[in-house]
Amino acid sequence: MSSGYRGRFAPSPTGDLHAGSLLAALGSWLYARRAGGRWLVRVEDVDTPRELAGAADRQLAALHAFGLRADEAVVRQSERDALYRDALEDLVDRGQAFPCWCSRADLAPAGGIHRACVRAPDPSRPPAIRLRVADGTRLRFVDDVRGPQVQEVDVEVGDFVLFRADGLWAYQLAVVVDDAAQGVTHVVRGADLLDSTPRQILLQHALGLPTPGYAHLPLVVDEAGRKLSKSLAAMPVDPADPLPALRRAWAALGQSPFDEPGVQYSCEWLERAVAAFDPSKIPAIDAQP
Ligand code: GLU
Repeated sequence: MSSGYRGRFAPSPTGDLHAGSLLAALGSWLYARRAGGRWLVRVEDVDTPRELAGAADRQLAALHAFGLRADEAVVRQSERDALYRDALEDLVDRGQAFPCWCSRADLAPAGGIHRACVRAPDPSRPPAIRLRVADGTRLRFVDDVRGPQVQEVDVEVGDFVLFRADGLWAYQLAVVVDDAAQGVTHVVRGADLLDSTPRQILLQHALGLPTPGYAHLPLVVDEAGRKLSKSLAAMPVDPADPLPALRRAWAALGQSPFDEPGVQYSCEWLERAVAAFDPSKIPAIDAQP
């Protein structure tokens, strides 16, 4: 019996599974299992220029080897254009999104923040489509790990891109449409996306979609406090020897060691981990590997 909880792990195929992405995969899986819910995997392959050939399949194979198996068929964003198009058309039709020809250079004097177009429409080239963010938009939410959050979306972010001038879907639109279409009730992911969350909640409001719960997990950082880069495939995890990497991810989630006599396979380890998992111990700061 499922509890109604639906979590997900949504890797971008820009490199192999590494310590940081394993932490997000394990954390989201533990939350879902502890709640007696379902755990989904979605390949976020809309940013094709950043994609690494074969990375999605290697990430999926690695998850499988770690014992983290999706409860439903894996979804790929590259196959979901129609859903994103419907949402975008809806926003444009209702005047909530608008075409924009401003370039990055045009917006540089304003710190890259768009409040009004500085470039006139240019029918000779395609525009980006942005969400209109009203003056005074303050977005508050409570993160399960990091507590109350607030962002002044108009001044800190501005009108943000939903569809890029180069013809690609922006992450913010695709993730919101997919989380809703897949019935995701809880988003558990790395803290690098904490400041994207207000944008996503605004978009949910604009599209009349429900807002899931959010929990942002510690990032795995190096000794200088720098985030490990996915594209550099820093610290790739070894799917042939899952237990050491699972134990490191468990420790980075602030969890205490548990009894492991006789545990040889990741599936057995994961079963015990679910029983021992205590989300209130997850640190609200970043972790060193
Ligand atoms: N695809 C994003 C990433 O790999 C994660 C998106 C999300 O979890 O919302 O960083």
